[in-house]
Amino acid sequence: VTGIDPEKIRVDFPILGRKVHNKPLVYFDNAATTQKPQVVIDALVNYYTGLNSNVHRGVHYLSQQATVAFEEVREKIQHFVNARFSHEIIYTRGCTESINLVAASWGRANIGQGDEILISGMEHHSNIVPWQMLCEEKGAALKVCPLHPDGSLDMQAYADMLGEKTRMVAITHISNTLGTVNPVKEITRMAHEKGITVLIDGAQALSHMKVDVQDIGCDFYAFSAHKVYGPMGIGGLYGREEVLNAMPPYQGGGEMIKNVTFEKTLYNELPFKFEAGTPNVGDVIGFGAAIDYISGIGLDQIGAWEHELLAYATEKLSADPLVRIIGTAPGKASLISFLINGIHPYDAGTIIDHMGIAVRTGTHCTQPLMDSLGISGTIRASFAFYNTKQEIDRLMEAIDKVKEFFL
Ligand code: PMP
Repeated sequence: VTGIDPEKIRVDFPILGRKVHNKPLVYFDNAATTQKPQVVIDALVNYYTGLNSNVHRGVHYLSQQATVAFEEVREKIQHFVNARFSHEIIYTRGCTESINLVAASWGRANIGQGDEILISGMEHHSNIVPWQMLCEEKGAALKVCPLHPDGSLDMQAYADMLGEKTRMVAITHISNTLGTVNPVKEITRMAHEKGITVLIDGAQALSHMKVDVQDIGCDFYAFSAHKVYGPMGIGGLYGREEVLNAMPPYQGGGEMIKNVTFEKTLYNELPFKFEAGTPNVGDVIGFGAAIDYISGIGLDQIGAWEHELLAYATEKLSADPLVRIIGTAPGKASLISFLINGIHPYDAGTIIDHMGIAVRTGTHCTQPLMDSLGISGTIRASFAFYNTKQEIDRLMEAIDKVKEFFL
């Protein structure tokens, strides 16, 4: 039993009051993107109404105020993930750009012919393709750590695959398809014992649990604001100061320079070295409002309620002999992938949608994982702390409708 009263929380999220197909919306696609509370929407409106101006370059009042607000959020994120310094937080467009930044910049300087990059069998395309591109360019090899049948990482195989040639381990904190929570601290410790750099894809983790990058010990941690109740198009990369300082810049342009002549450019210091061009100030400020909002509720409370929802949904879905749950690792995060007796996920999803319920169907950007499981996709219900058990009951009714229609 937790202190969360979802009915009280729900009034903070205007979209949850709307109807879809004439039915009250049930939003179970939180792993794709979370909804935004009114305070985040207000922060965006207030920024563009009263503060809009370019940062770091104006002596004028608005520019100075915008710069202060922009840099305050960096400190907020620093404390949120417990980084040592605020300059270890680089603003990006999101998790995907953060991983691309590391692959392009760190990869350019540190990967050579014959080197290996180790990922896992449950990675999102955004933690596969940037490494493939790097490997192709450098003549390096991408290795994939296998999973156990329940969807947990095979840690024995992982230990065996950390080899002489491994330069980078890039693994997700939480699988967006299976819900598996990986032992990232252990993963990092084992890699660091062999001098291997570690990137953790935190896209799914930040909204569900307290993340402490110093405790994990990783070199990089990538995330997106839109999965943490903030705006789209903004996110971040945590990087350890020493590692970031040793990296070449990512993109060139304004902001990332100290001095430019046609002969030579002196690059700026952290974090600006990695932030070329005018940044997304308004959305940074919206992200700050989202962090304040969920910090006010408390990640422990959020995690506890989401686990109650997960347990309830798992019990209901397991009781249906025609439902097969994909991903049953212990200690899962609050999402469930499942199939209904061979019915194509897209067909099932269409019926479920007509009941006003938003679930995701398909490969969830984890096509190689689907291939290894021998399935074409799943139906995925992913929960947030504003969801209720009554909504899960409505999903069960929708599943009955799907069976009526197709079986
Ligand atoms: N990694 C994982 C595990 C994800 O779930 C996602 C988003 N579905 C991403 C990376 C990419 O995040 P974004 O699209 O916000 O860059």
